[in-house]
Amino acid sequence: MSQPLRARKKLSATASAAHIGRALLSISALAIVVVGTGAFLLSYHFLHQQTERHLRTLISFAASESRSAIVFRDTKTATEILQSIPGDEGITFAEIRDASGVVLARIDGRADGWVGRLSGWVGDERVRQEVVEEGRRIGDIVLEGGSEPMLRTLGGLLAWFGFGTLLIAASALALARKYTRRFTQPIWQLHEVVKQLIEGRDFSRRAPPSSLTEVEDLRCEFNALLDEISLRDHLLTQSNAALRRVAYIDALTGLPNRAMFEPALQATIDACNRDRTRACLFYLDIDAFKSVNDNLGHAVGDELLSRIAARLRNWRPQETTATRIGGDEFVVLFSPLAANADPENILAELHAELEAPIRHGDLVLHPSTSIGVAVYPDAARSIDEFVHLADQSMYAAKGRRREQGHVTRWNADAAAAKQAANSDWIGIDPGAIQQVE
Ligand code: GH3
Ligand code: MG
Repeated sequence: MSQPLRARKKLSATASAAHIGRALLSISALAIVVVGTGAFLLSYHFLHQQTERHLRTLISFAASESRSAIVFRDTKTATEILQSIPGDEGITFAEIRDASGVVLARIDGRADGWVGRLSGWVGDERVRQEVVEEGRRIGDIVLEGGSEPMLRTLGGLLAWFGFGTLLIAASALALARKYTRRFTQPIWQLHEVVKQLIEGRDFSRRAPPSSLTEVEDLRCEFNALLDEISLRDHLLTQSNAALRRVAYIDALTGLPNRAMFEPALQATIDACNRDRTRACLFYLDIDAFKSVNDNLGHAVGDELLSRIAARLRNWRPQETTATRIGGDEFVVLFSPLAANADPENILAELHAELEAPIRHGDLVLHPSTSIGVAVYPDAARSIDEFVHLADQSMYAAKGRRREQGHVTRWNADAAAAKQAANSDWIGIDPGAIQQVE
């Protein structure tokens, strides 16, 4: 689940960076187009006027210079006057004519083709001025061109626009990256916390503070949510543990119950099959337990069950698992059973362990138990058979012990016995007290 989540997050982060980048680029491009075009048109207009004024100044100068050349029809001088106009003024065409229209001098440097058409279209001017002598028109001068300085300036302006555009685009992208990081970093940090929460169930992590107000609000709410989840998880863990205890642990004795015995038995059988070892199952039932309940009360019966359970729990704890199957029945799973071990000897050891007297207040109980045993895989080949054989063996033992008169007995200790004769301690009928033989 975490992989697609990560992939999805990455996609959206990339998308937001691209969005901000595109937005900044668009705004920059719009600003460049609007401001640049305006500046360009104003410059063009200003330069155009400048060119025209300049041409008029040039032509006035040329007119005053060429008067005598026109009067004397001195073509050489007229040509020199036109040639004296500096080349960088961008004059492409110049002509001096007399009053009858005869050309005395001409310079024609107009370019053919698209260059000429372009400079003519962009900014070339054509100005004409009459040459007057004593109030009489004696000729004309025509000047054409002048766009070259303007084009040079406009070219420089365009180059600057190009450079400025690149500079602004690069700045926009750098800013986009910077701001994207500022926005997305706290989101990524939140994402990290969520990831650890999902993958490692780590509810202790909290999202770090952010300098962005909106993200900080989100972080506080997110952390509050985490506090809530963390508390709920804690309560859930506790109630799960409690449920597990109820489901698998016997409330009175604290031993595992039947529900837990079955998987434990299966695991033992699997280990035996895998490791070629043996296991033995002791099935035991307290003899005449009901009489303890009936004569001494259920509280004493409960105490006897608890004490038997404690003995089972502490007997060979490394090799055994004890379970209360129900009522006064217990099983002890013994595994692994050493190859040379005799189950009957172990059974005798268990018997001795359980039959030791139990002191409870002024009572001394002498528990008697019937224990059956089965060995896997010696006699039993399956789980059911294993349990069935142990159960059968227990019933056989119980029959034998009943014939022999083995029952759970009790008596009061010496001091209490005296008292018992004329008191109703712990509510027992003194006549019901069985003396140990
Ligand atoms: P047997 O020698 O044939 O085993 O007879 P028994 O008297 O021990 O009777 P049995 O094993 O058949 O019955 C066990 C009794 O244990 C039945 C029930 O009243 C009692 N018992 C079951 N659970 C509890 C418990 O949790 N506490 C107490 N005090 N008694 C219980
Ligand atoms: Mg019994």
